[in-house]
Amino acid sequence: MCSPQESGMNAMSTRMVTRSRTRGPGARPRAGGEDSAPLGKGEAAAEGRKRHSPVKRQQKPQRLHVAYEASDGEKGEGSEPFKVPTWEPQDWQQQLVNIRTMRSKKDAPVDQLGAEHCYDASAPPKVRRYQVLLSLMLSSQTKDQVTAGAMQRLRARGLTVDSILQTDDSTLGKLIYPVGFWRNKVKYIKQTSAILQQRYGGDIPASVPELVALPGVGPKMAHLAMAVAWGTVSGIAVDTHVHRITNRLRWTKKPTKSPEETRVALEEWLPRELWSEINGLLVGFGQQTCLPVHPRCQACLNQSLCPAARGL
Ligand code: SF4
Repeated sequence: MCSPQESGMNAMSTRMVTRSRTRGPGARPRAGGEDSAPLGKGEAAAEGRKRHSPVKRQQKPQRLHVAYEASDGEKGEGSEPFKVPTWEPQDWQQQLVNIRTMRSKKDAPVDQLGAEHCYDASAPPKVRRYQVLLSLMLSSQTKDQVTAGAMQRLRARGLTVDSILQTDDSTLGKLIYPVGFWRNKVKYIKQTSAILQQRYGGDIPASVPELVALPGVGPKMAHLAMAVAWGTVSGIAVDTHVHRITNRLRWTKKPTKSPEETRVALEEWLPRELWSEINGLLVGFGQQTCLPVHPRCQACLNQSLCPAARGL
């Protein structure tokens, strides 16, 4: 099972320059062959001893300069420097604790039918990764139950890049119907599968820029694919639930107009070790409590802390 392993990185910490370096479990794997499928275990590279020249007696005590830098694991994708947040929302930590409590039963549709539950765990790693990507492509504008049904029908025929390319459009359409925008998805799935076969040996790429370059693959899908298929935390996966709820809770400094704008705003301040948790947590919360229309504020533990509760 290619379940995601989340990074245990502590985004808020700093460390001294002279130290051993640890590669966390969320460290980015190498793209390509099947050996790269399992998440890399944390590895530590021992730092060699430094040779010391004889100590010279100093006449005057010298001021000691201690330099700090963000650890490798604390840096964003592409080794961006770690940013110290200058703003964070009021009460967000208590709101998060309350949402975790409300989600403790893990009984929302996303918990049983999300992308990490739709692939064949016994298939070879690159087939599993392809199935993860495909389930994400099917899931946009579609209920989890409908996506899961379509994946079941596709898997019953053996779901691989080759099998999809050998399936005619009409048959593929019937198999995935009634997922949202199924006609477009037939086209995108065919185009993406052809690219995966030609450029990636039937595997999926292991970077967000390469994933979003595939037809029908958006940023949310790319970040979820990185997390579920590659075990890498590349960013916060923001869909309509995450977008709506974080705006209601004022988790963005100012109201945002699109999920992508929300992702950028959240990544400005939310500690990186929470990035992989947020999607599943808030999607389920949005399916059960913080509904798009008529949210169940009376049953919500955040009612007294939620700026939107009064206006809904
Ligand atoms: S109080 Fe209402 S709007 Fe606010 S988080 Fe809870 S359900 Fe959503």
